[in-house]
Amino acid sequence: MRSFSQHQKKLGKTIGLVPTMGYLHSGHISLIERAKKDCDTVVVSIYVNPTQFGPEEDYKRYPRDLERDKKLAKAAGADVLFTPSNKEIYPDGYSTYVRVEKLSEKLCGVSRPTHFRGVTTVVAKLFNIIKPDKSYFGWKDAQQLIIIKKMVEDLNLNVKVVGLPTLREKDGLAISSRNKYLSKEEREIAPILYQALQKAKKIVSSGERNVEKVLRELKKIIEEKKIKIDYLKAVNLSDFADVKRIEKNTLIAVAAWVGQTRLIDNMLIRN
Ligand code: AMP
Repeated sequence: MRSFSQHQKKLGKTIGLVPTMGYLHSGHISLIERAKKDCDTVVVSIYVNPTQFGPEEDYKRYPRDLERDKKLAKAAGADVLFTPSNKEIYPDGYSTYVRVEKLSEKLCGVSRPTHFRGVTTVVAKLFNIIKPDKSYFGWKDAQQLIIIKKMVEDLNLNVKVVGLPTLREKDGLAISSRNKYLSKEEREIAPILYQALQKAKKIVSSGERNVEKVLRELKKIIEEKKIKIDYLKAVNLSDFADVKRIEKNTLIAVAAWVGQTRLIDNMLIRN
């Protein structure tokens, strides 16, 4: 992978990287297509990174289908699939981790305390191996995107991090590899997370700025469907601190258990 990248650079070609855990869906495809528009050579990495899963989480049963991914990635414009093994990424005695403090402890970091350390470590390694000019991430994982931007800034990494909008199913459910876990009944109620965020948008555009009032309404909508909320918060995008009033760059973020499946979604108040 390193020598391929070096060769591309010698030829004067720009490299775009789309890091994924595979089981590709149209959310991933939108990132690959955008990378292809922006860059000469597109690398898609597929690696189910064990260090970003907690001990009780779904590392083992995370969906995998490399043959299908190969076809989808190629059709979307990927030039190279990088699919390292665990041994290559974390050889025996591996002991170096990248941790973005503070930001990694908020929101998903509360119930997943080692998650972002795993993400930033593997993404830093991918950046070092592949040396992309640009790398593409989805706003669906807003906290991840902001943390990676912070890592790049703090460590002076020479890569531009591009965030792209969340792709959704027709009924609004944010597309995710984990949606595969949902039973038919769970799949039917899951779009309520999106509907609640849409309701928040409506309430905010009608002039309401009080976070407590807005979140109370959202909580009611979600819990009516027997979904267990992990967190539902309105935070400042720059430091994920709770806000009292909804303003420009307030992120309304939710994580919730639909049965045994933890789903996340969010909405950024831009104006
Ligand atoms: P994952 O394979 O889940 O680690 O996701 C790989 C990349 O795809 C991350 O940058 C995600 O934020 C992004 N992604 C996942 N789902 C979506 C979606 N529905 N829309 C846009 N991007 C997504």
